[in-house]
Amino acid sequence: MIVRVNDITDKVRSLAAVEAIDEHPILKALQDEGECLFRSPLTVDVTVVREYDHIRLEADVTVVVALNCSRCLASYETTLKSNFTVFYSKSTGSFVPDEEVELGERELVSAYYEGEEINVSPEIAEHVLIELPLKPLCSEGCRGLCPSCGVDLNTTVCDCSDNRSGFAFSALKNFKVER
Ligand SMILES: [Zn+2]
Ligand SMILES: [Zn+2]
Repeated sequence: MIVRVNDITDKVRSLAAVEAIDEHPILKALQDEGECLFRSPLTVDVTVVREYDHIRLEADVTVVVALNCSRCLASYETTLKSNFTVFYSKSTGSFVPDEEVELGERELVSAYYEGEEINVSPEIAEHVLIELPLKPLCSEGCRGLCPSCGVDLNTTVCDCSDNRSGFAFSALKNFKVER
């Protein structure tokens, strides 16, 4: 998403866009690597306003993604939602790295722009990345796969857990005997 600086005034302005994953090289690369499968384009809603010496941009980004559960390996769909605030200052020419601070639920980012346009796409892609879980779970209570026989414990019952507790018990008994 590109916002024209001249269109930004001290009155809050809303902009909306639907962006294809292909417009975000980082996200497309992630999908090409098989990390996830985007099931919808990105829905982007932003408000922009000029404040003091900076431009304040608030964004809400939503996308549907298919992930593989880290416990049971099943594919499941989930909706990622990200909202963040960026304070854009006009670049003074020298390179200054973006700064980020966590303030409550919302993340605040300081960034710089040059020229007449602000390209919000890098921030959008980065915040979608942040929302991707490191260990995806199809549900909080996912029981995963049996480490012994490999069945999906969400849908199948196996006898392995009975055997395991039996083994643990006998190991404990042996331990006591040896002492
Ligand atoms: Zn699972
Ligand atoms: Zn089993």
